[in-house]
Amino acid sequence: MSPTAYADFHARSLTERDAFWAEQAKRIDWQTPPQQICDASQPPFARWFVGGTTNLCHNAVDRHAATRPGDRALIWVSTEVGQEKVYSFAQLQAEVEAMAAMLLAQGVGPGDRVLIYMPMIPEAAFAMLACARIGAIHSVVFGGFASVSLASRIDDAVPTLIVSADAGSRGGKRVAYKPLLDEAITLAQHKPAAVLMVDRGLVPFERVAGRDLDYAELRRRHDGARVPCAWLESNTPSYTLYTSGTTGRPKGVQRDVGGYAVALAASMDWIFGGKPGETYFSTSDIGWVVGHSYIVYGPLIHGMATLMYEGTPVNPDAAVLWSLVEKYQVTVMFSAPTAVRVLKKHDAVLLKRHDLSSLRALFLAGEPLDEPTARWIAEGLGVPIIDNYWQTETGWPLLTVAHHIPGVEAVPTRLGSPGVPMYGYDVKLLDEQTGVELTGPDQKGVLAIAHPLPPGALQTVWGDDARFVNTYWRSIPGREVYSTFDWATRDADGYTFILGRTDDVINVAGHRLGTREIEECISGHAALAEVAVVGVADQLKGQVAIAFAVLRDAALASPALEGEIMKHVDAQLGAVARPARVLFVTLLPKTRSGKLLRRALQAVAEGRDPGDLTTLDDPSALAQVKTLLHK
Ligand code: AMP
Repeated sequence: MSPTAYADFHARSLTERDAFWAEQAKRIDWQTPPQQICDASQPPFARWFVGGTTNLCHNAVDRHAATRPGDRALIWVSTEVGQEKVYSFAQLQAEVEAMAAMLLAQGVGPGDRVLIYMPMIPEAAFAMLACARIGAIHSVVFGGFASVSLASRIDDAVPTLIVSADAGSRGGKRVAYKPLLDEAITLAQHKPAAVLMVDRGLVPFERVAGRDLDYAELRRRHDGARVPCAWLESNTPSYTLYTSGTTGRPKGVQRDVGGYAVALAASMDWIFGGKPGETYFSTSDIGWVVGHSYIVYGPLIHGMATLMYEGTPVNPDAAVLWSLVEKYQVTVMFSAPTAVRVLKKHDAVLLKRHDLSSLRALFLAGEPLDEPTARWIAEGLGVPIIDNYWQTETGWPLLTVAHHIPGVEAVPTRLGSPGVPMYGYDVKLLDEQTGVELTGPDQKGVLAIAHPLPPGALQTVWGDDARFVNTYWRSIPGREVYSTFDWATRDADGYTFILGRTDDVINVAGHRLGTREIEECISGHAALAEVAVVGVADQLKGQVAIAFAVLRDAALASPALEGEIMKHVDAQLGAVARPARVLFVTLLPKTRSGKLLRRALQAVAEGRDPGDLTTLDDPSALAQVKTLLHK
């Protein structure tokens, strides 16, 4: 029998939506089977696998511990502290149960929030899985964020408890977490009752009496604890994950339990082609969505071992990732184009130093994959390089090429495009002004998704349904569709090409940042009158943030002040948000009505034509920027 064309398979996932996902639901264990596959009756909200009860931790850990207790589940490698640890499914279950017991003993119950501010250590994964086990909602905040970012997330999540550690480490440098956390709690309105501290012995820290708990001590106390998985209705929130938007206010992407588990299970098989018992290696961080979906939940739900790595791609040398692939026989690997561009600065011979025969494919996501980078790594590794496009909001790939669907034709990869719409996503390309669907080749529009979003995508914005509806579903005139806020084109064969964001979100080394958040932070500096931050193309990081600052007293402009403003951002938001440059100007380019012409600023900074400037109030503003940049 000839294989089904992928386009037909994709069409079936939409036209026979419920039958399609009912089959996929069989990939996970349910305590009570779903009564309804999709309740799409209240757009734009969607409820998947209604009435079914299940548990993410049961599916990720217990069901494998029951059948293959000795198989590897979590492999932790830190080149920062020179340690490696391997946990079998049985050992992982014991760790998670002990941590779940600690949370329960502190009064954390179903629906309570637990904020996790951790480096890449096994306890971070234990904490996430322990929350999932008891029905608490975890909210992981990336360890690279500093006190002000953290405080705003604490106030939004209102956690009962925070799990943290003394320090992380990056490139051999210790990064103390505890002082940032203490300062964040001081700044926040909400004061969590307890902070569970993992002491790695890296940086000494102060303990707050009556609030800070010692993980090692509680671990001993709860050794051997048995904590059953709570059976949760499929639509119960499992976690929130903050992401950047166009305002400085954090936006908590909220996900469910059942839909997420099913979507991940299907993607692990069909998109990533992983097999139970093998090892999956994602170089991301648990603070990002890739870390949630493809370091912790996806591989484990699929019965794979997951390799969790604390370290950089170049320490002790630029072959370290490949040495791990060889040592742990990694079959599927996931990274970001930036990591590859970092490696590309080193000798390509390093790609050949290790035996990579176990590796079947390298998946790259998070930012555009440029052709030279794709070619370099494909030639060096000799395995398929698979670009995949998605967002914190979608939870799993929206555009890619799925090569492992039995009986379905594999869509070939095409350089420059992440691929075609994945099953379950009703993807549209729309005219931004009119909302009209663009069906011809090479037309530029906004990439959107029709209701309902597939399983695994966000349910809402935490605590703010109105923001969910207004932000995502009302931005395109005359249409109630989900906007990705990405520009795209499609070629004659249906491959989609991503052209960048339609909003003020920038992407630095695969990290999503809101320029408004950085602006709000910088304008808090006493010397400044006004600031504009734009993302500017960068060879290594994809984009970097550049700040254009107007001083209260122009005479104060100096390299020292530039350094001080950068430090200010470091301390408040974290190094990820630090602008690559702060340029002092006396005027920002604005329209006569006072609207900042961000895009013109960005174009000039990238040496491009700024386009129509008829609305520009004072042309000397852009002239000044040009002069500064070309100095
Ligand atoms: P995040 O929510 O942090 O995963 O960021 C999502 C955004 O990153 C998307 O809206 C895109 O702008 C960008 N992005 C993610 N993956 C890709 C990709 N494969 N190609 C181009 N842009 C991407």
